[in-house]
Amino acid sequence: MKLALSFALLLSLVLAVSSTAEEFDFFYLVQQWPGSFCDTEQGCCFPSTGKPAADFGIHGLWPNYAVCRTGGEPDAEFSIVGARKKCWPEYCNDDNPLSLLEIKDLLKPLDRNWPSLSCKNGGQSMRFWSYEWRKHGTCSGLDQHDYFEAALALKSRHNLTAILASAGIVPSDSRTYFLSSIRDAISDATGFAVNLECNRDESSEAQLFQVYQCVDRDGKELIDCTLPMRSKCTDRVKLPSF
Ligand code: 5GP
Repeated sequence: MKLALSFALLLSLVLAVSSTAEEFDFFYLVQQWPGSFCDTEQGCCFPSTGKPAADFGIHGLWPNYAVCRTGGEPDAEFSIVGARKKCWPEYCNDDNPLSLLEIKDLLKPLDRNWPSLSCKNGGQSMRFWSYEWRKHGTCSGLDQHDYFEAALALKSRHNLTAILASAGIVPSDSRTYFLSSIRDAISDATGFAVNLECNRDESSEAQLFQVYQCVDRDGKELIDCTLPMRSKCTDRVKLPSF
C-alpha cells in the first residue's frame, strides 16, 4: 500500500514537471543582425572572445502558443509583448540552471553563432545563454545540450546571411532594400514564411533587426505558423554593416 502510494506520488510529480515543460505549440527561432543591434542609441559591447562575424547571431529558441491564453485572438501587440498576456510559457524550472559541463562540446559553435552583444553582460555570452535557457529553454521539453544543439543546427541549415547575399541583399550603410525582397528571399530559400522585426538606427531609419522562423516542437524542422508580429519595419529597410 505504502509502495503504491509512493509510486502514485512519484508519477504525479513526473507528470506535473513534464506537462509544464511541454505545453506549447511551436518554437520561434529568433536571429539578430549584429549591425542593427549595435548602431542604435544604446550601442553594444563585444564578447570577451572578440568582435563576432558579420553574420546573423542566435537570440533564442522560444516555445510559443499558437493562440494567446488570455482568450481572444492574438494581435500584433500581443505577440511581442505577450509574456504578461501568456502568449508563451516562460521560466518553467528555476531548479535547472545552465551548466557549462552540459554544453562543453558546444562552446566554440555557441561563441561563434550565439554571441551576446549586450553591454549588460560584461562580455560573457554564457550569461546570455543562461538567461535564454532559464526563460525559454526550461519550457522546451529538451535537455540543455539538445536545446542548444537544436538552435545551432537550425541556424547552420538555414544560413540567413548566405541566403540574403545570394539574393543581392548585402550589408551596406547607404543602400536600402524592399522588405518584401528580404521576406521573399528567405521564404524562397527555406520554403517557409518568416516574420521580420526592425529597429531604428541613430538617425531613426528602419533596419532589419531580427528574423523569426517557426520550428516544430522537436526543434528540428522549420514549419509555417501564422502569429502576427509587431514589426516596426517600413517598406524599405537597411541592413547596416557590422
Ligand atoms: P528575451 O528577449 O530573450 O526575453 O531577453 C533578452 C535578454 O538578453 C535581455 O535582457 C538582453 O539584455 C539580454 N541580452 C544579452 N545579450 C543580448 C544580445 O546580444 N541580444 C539581445 N537581443 N539580448 C541580449
